[in-house]
Formats: sequence, structure tokens, C-alpha cells
Amino acid sequence: MTRIDQIETILLDVPTIRPHVLAMATMNVQVICLVRIRCSDGSEGVGEATTIGGLAYGPEAPETIKLAIDTYFAPLLVGRDATRPAELMAMLDKAIVGNNFAKCAVETALLDAQGKRCGLAVSELLGGRVRDRLPVLWTLASGNTATDIEEAERMIDLRRHDTFKLKIGKRSVRDDVAHVAAIKKALGDRGSVRVDVNMAWTEVQAREGLAMLADADCELCEQPIHRSNREGMARLSARSAVPIMADEALTGPASAFDYARSGAADVFAVKVEQSGGLRAACGVARIAEAAGVALYGGTMLEGGVGTVASAHAFATFSSLAFGTELFGPLLLTEELLTTPVDYSDFSLAVPAGPGLGIEIDEDRIARFRRDADRKTVAITAS
Ligand SMILES: [Mg+2]
Repeated sequence: MTRIDQIETILLDVPTIRPHVLAMATMNVQVICLVRIRCSDGSEGVGEATTIGGLAYGPEAPETIKLAIDTYFAPLLVGRDATRPAELMAMLDKAIVGNNFAKCAVETALLDAQGKRCGLAVSELLGGRVRDRLPVLWTLASGNTATDIEEAERMIDLRRHDTFKLKIGKRSVRDDVAHVAAIKKALGDRGSVRVDVNMAWTEVQAREGLAMLADADCELCEQPIHRSNREGMARLSARSAVPIMADEALTGPASAFDYARSGAADVFAVKVEQSGGLRAACGVARIAEAAGVALYGGTMLEGGVGTVASAHAFATFSSLAFGTELFGPLLLTEELLTTPVDYSDFSLAVPAGPGLGIEIDEDRIARFRRDADRKTVAITAS
């Protein structure tokens, strides 16, 4: 039997290229909880968990994810059969309530190791790919209209992105929509614009905002109101000319079923961490497909590992009408993979090698780990 020998968790603090301004937090650094699972056959798998602004987005933070895995996940996993990821995840689901982000990081590492063992990419383990490249948009979130337009122009020139998501909800509805309209007007037909309100509006504000967004030629509105107001989301979806996307509300297949049954969204933003893992994310996609809900591949602003893991899952979706936002590594000042993710022609390439098909840059990990000082001493001593 191939046993799980060791589970290691490492916190990394990686600076962002600019302040990332969202309705609930401003990020200057992304904290990554890297998970490594070492097995008795010498195989190793990596996974990653991130959140947005610590605890500002949801009930887990990188620090709580590390604590949960070290204290509760690892003792349940060490010594078990590493070649049975689905059985291990079912065991964890029984023993541990919630903690979807931590479960996703652990499942990713198990699937990465399993893929390397079998000589198959994770997307192949998930049933096989429908596509090898995924369209990737860019989020404009500097907080300044002129800066955002400049940033968008640069991305179009580089042929890196031509679809832009604007983070709004911090200012008045009128000011926010004016910001959106100005950017769309500047880009014209060269770029499309959508918004993410991150639950900042009331339903009344959303009704007003959505009508104005339609006039501004905005193509999609993400989670305009609170995640708990499913009926409100259904009312907005029924009357809005701009399609409504659920994000924060989707915490796995059960919530997806609930939203699909209620007609509470036109589009689902599927996130592997929020869903509770790659297979759960595929479950959310299946429900959307059955219900006629369109799909979009979301991000928790993961680094290279989590972004590639997401890409493997999204590559298996039969349709991905609204593309993805898998730009996480591009928001960080540092590359954490030895071979960076290939971003070109407005899309990213899903790696084809066994497992996730990536390799961690150990020097960068050593440099950005939160306990770097102690680690440096340990490296020097050896
Ligand atoms: Mg969102």
C-alpha cells in the first residue's frame, strides 16, 4: 500500500503588484497556505489555499486553514492509502464540518500525487479535457478610473486580456456606475466590461444599479446583494437585462442546487476552494449544466498552484460561456513556479504533464515563507 507519510503546511506572504481594492478589503499582500503531501512511494503532491483579505471574504483564513490541517486533517490522513483520494475526501467530509478551502488544498495535493503516480494530468483524472486553453479576464481594481483605463489599454496592447471585471460597491451606486461607464466608453469595442459588487448593495440599490449598468453596456453583474438573500437574487435575475452571477452564495453542490432550483442566478462563478475541492467544483458545474445556468471559472486570487488546479477542473466543463478569471499569479510580484503559467492570446494554457504539471520554485518558497528567518538558519546549518 502507498501510504501518506507526511503533510506539511507552509504560510507564504507574497506582495501584490498594486493595491487590489475590493468592497470588503484592500489587499497589498496575498497569503498562501501551501500544502505538501509526501507518500511512501516517494511521490509528492502540492495544493494551495488562499482567501481574499484574511477573514474579510469568508469564514476561513490562510492561518486557520494551516491550523485546521495541522491539527485535525493530518492525523486523520497520515498512514492512510494515498491512492484513494475520493475515499479520503469522503472520510474527511464525515469527520470535519465545512473548512472547504482547507479540504480543497488537501484534495489538490492528493490528486497531484495520484496524477504523477498514474502519469496523468489532474484534468484527465477528473474525466478529461474539453479544452487546453482557458480565456482569462483581468480585474481592474486600482480604485481610480484613469489608472484603470490605462491598465486596460496596456492589457489589450499586450494581447493578455480584453475582458475586464471592475470591482465596485465601495462608493455610491451612481459614482460606481459612472466609473464603469467611463471605462467602457474609453475601450469601446476593443474590450468588454463586467462588474463584481461583492454583496455590497441592498436589493433596492441593485435594482437601480442594474438598470444603469445596462445603459453602460455592462455584460455581467456578479453577486450584487448578500449571499443569504437568494429570493432577492431570483427577483433581480428575473427582471435585470444584465445577467446576474452568483459567487459568494455558492459553497458547493448543495448551494448550487438550491440556487439553480430557485432561478437565483443566470451564471455560476465556480471556485474550487469555495466548492470544497476540484471534484466538488465539477459537481457544481454539472448542476449548472442540468439547470441551464451558464458557467464562469472564478478565483480566490490563488498563486500558481491553486490557479493551475482550478484550470484543470475548468478544462473539463462542457461549456464555459463567461470564461475565467484565473489571473491570480499575475497579481503577485513573485513567480512561485519554476515554469510560469503561459498567459498569452487572452488565455492561459492548462499544463499537460502528470498531476498538476507544475514544479514549485523552492528558493522562492524559502524566501517568502512567513517563518523565513528560522528557515534560513535551518538551511544554512544543513
Ligand atoms: Mg466575486
